[in-house]
Formats: sequence, C-alpha cells, structure tokens
Amino acid sequence: MKVAVIGAGPAGMSCANALLSFGLEPVVIERADHVGGIQRANFHPNLWMLGMPGETGSGITERLASHYFDLAIVTHLQADILAVAGRDTGFRLRLAQAGVERLLDVAALVLATGSQPRSTPALAAMARQSDRVIIGPLSKTIQDGIQGSRVLILGGGDNALDHALYLAERGNRVTVCARGEYSARRQFQAACAGRTEIELRKGCQPDALVAREDVISATWDAREETYDWLLVMYGYQPNTAILERFEPAIRPRLADSGYIHVERDQRTSAPGIYAAGDVTDNIQPSVPTAIAQGLAAAKAVELSLP
Ligand SMILES: Cc1cc2nc3c(=O)[nH]c(=O)nc-3n(C[C@H](O)[C@H](O)[C@H](O)COP(=O)(O)OP(=O)(O)OC[C@H]3O[C@@H](n4cnc5c(N)ncnc54)[C@H](O)[C@@H]3O)c2cc1C
Repeated sequence: MKVAVIGAGPAGMSCANALLSFGLEPVVIERADHVGGIQRANFHPNLWMLGMPGETGSGITERLASHYFDLAIVTHLQADILAVAGRDTGFRLRLAQAGVERLLDVAALVLATGSQPRSTPALAAMARQSDRVIIGPLSKTIQDGIQGSRVLILGGGDNALDHALYLAERGNRVTVCARGEYSARRQFQAACAGRTEIELRKGCQPDALVAREDVISATWDAREETYDWLLVMYGYQPNTAILERFEPAIRPRLADSGYIHVERDQRTSAPGIYAAGDVTDNIQPSVPTAIAQGLAAAKAVELSLP
C-alpha cells in the first residue's frame, strides 16, 4: 500500500525507512534537488545526537542520506505538489516534476516539510537585491566568506548570538540588535558579553536599512552606521504553505503557533494525514526528535491501515 511522505529531511527519510520496514510502500516527494533538509548546510557539531560526538549537522545528514539511498524508496526530487484531494480510501495527489504532471493515489499521507528562516517582506526583498543580506543561519557564506568585516545581526535568540560568537572568532566586529530582551541561552549571552568584538544592543530596531553597493546602511535616530553584512536571525516558521493546495475538508488544523498540531501518535486533525518533525508543534525541534517522530508516524500509519 502506497504512503506519500512529503519532505525528505530527517523526519521524512526516517518515516520512509520505517514504512518500508513495516511492509508499506513509501513514495517520498521533495521539492529540493537533494534529500537531507535544513541540516545539510550545518557546519556546527550536533550536540543532541547521542553516539556521534563532534559530528556536524552536514556530516550526520550525509550518513542519513547514504543509508536512505541504500533503501528501495521511490523518491521524487524537485517535485511540486499541485493539489491534494480526499478519496473514499486515501488521497489523490497531483504532482509536477520536470514539466510533467502525474497523479499519485495513496492510502495515507505524512507531512514532513520542516521549517524555514523567518523574515519580513522588506528584508526578503533586500536579500534578493544584495548578497550581503543573508536571511537565516547555516550558509556557506557565513561559514567561510565573512572575515575582517563589520556585521549587523538582527535578532536576539540562540542563532543570533551563536553566529555573533562564530563571526567574532573569525576577526569580525559584530553588532547584535534585539528588538526586546535577549532570549538566547544564558551561556551564549555570557560568552558574547565577554568579547570586545561583540556589541549587544537591546530594545533596538533600525529606523531604516538600505543595501547599497557593498555596504549596508542602518539608521537610528537620524544617525547612520554602515556595515559590510546584514544577517537576519528572526527564528523559524513552519513550511505549511502546501496546505493551501489541500482540499479544505482534509486540511490539518494548525496550533496557535502556526505549526501543525499533532496528537501523541503524530496524527493530525485530518484522518489519514500525519505530520512529523519541525513542521509540528514539538517541544524540542532537533534531528533526533524528527527521526523519532518520523518513525512514530510510520507506526501510526501502519496501525491505521487494514
Ligand atoms: C541553525 C540551526 C541549528 C540547528 N542545530 C541542531 C543541532 O545541533 N542538533 C539537532 O539535532 N538539530 C539542530 N537543528 C534542528 C534540525 O535541523 C531540525 O530539527 C531538523 O532538520 C528537522 O528535520 P525535518 O525533517 O522536520 O525538517 P527539515 O530538515 O527542514 O526538512 C524538511 C524537508 O522538506 C522539504 N519541503 C518543504 N516544503 C516542501 C514541499 N512543499 N514539498 C516537498 N518538500 C518540501 C524541504 O525541502 C526539506 O528537504 C538546528 C536547526 C537550525 C536551523
């Protein structure tokens, strides 16, 4: 029996692996041209994968992907889901891949679409216009392309301060600008406060930000400051836009936070539709959580099918 898994990050790959082991037929649909999800570009060691000390996010992703491709799992990369409709027994998906449309009938469906960096329309437009404006963490440019520069980071959470420390260690001067109080872990706040290259400002929001050629101009109270780079670290938001392509009657309910609400067994409010990983309202988004939720979703699917 076919089960669609949407998204091939750790949650989707784990779910597909488990579905296969339960004798079901997973069909994975991924919009990117690769599997692995958001951790693929993480150059920091993963602190939460017990048994792999020091291994980076990208190293773990390679291991997961290598195992995944050893399995006989049908995977559609660079595939776009155009519509999802309910049927008497299961769902009908309309997919587009390489300009070709096809229909896929499945008995159940697992959403594992993860999350993406949060931004504002104005900052997103700046990032499209200038490659010196970077939305979200984990880019190759941040990893090794920013040195001896002046960097402005917007945000006050873990990612903002983690990146401030990383960049300060590479000879950059960093100004971090949090709209309110800092919400980052205490150890990050203490480490940043102890470094002369990092200035932490709170209750701070520039009146204007403009990307000029090779320079970012930030204005506060008519005072202009210039930076070489602007990093936007406003946290993450769930990838739920795909739900607009679901028939209204089978659209899973979102929690107040905007994440997909799931029960303990990864069931959503829509019968036959499950969700796993960062797209759900889980308490600790992480690779092990995503892997475990993918497995749990597969088990719940298996139990629900005749
Ligand atoms: C900066 C940062 C640092 C982190 N550090 C750690 C760490 O040290 N340790 C740790 O364990 N975790 C860490 N995490 C968390 C970890 O990355 C996530 O919890 C994990 O990747 C979640 O896996 P996922 O499969 O749910 O989502 P993702 O990894 O986001 O994968 C989702 C997949 O779905 C695909 N997709 C999205 N929309 C669609 C669509 N409409 N159609 C088809 N495919 C779609 C995406 O392309 C992607 O491949 C970190 C996260 C960030 C951002």
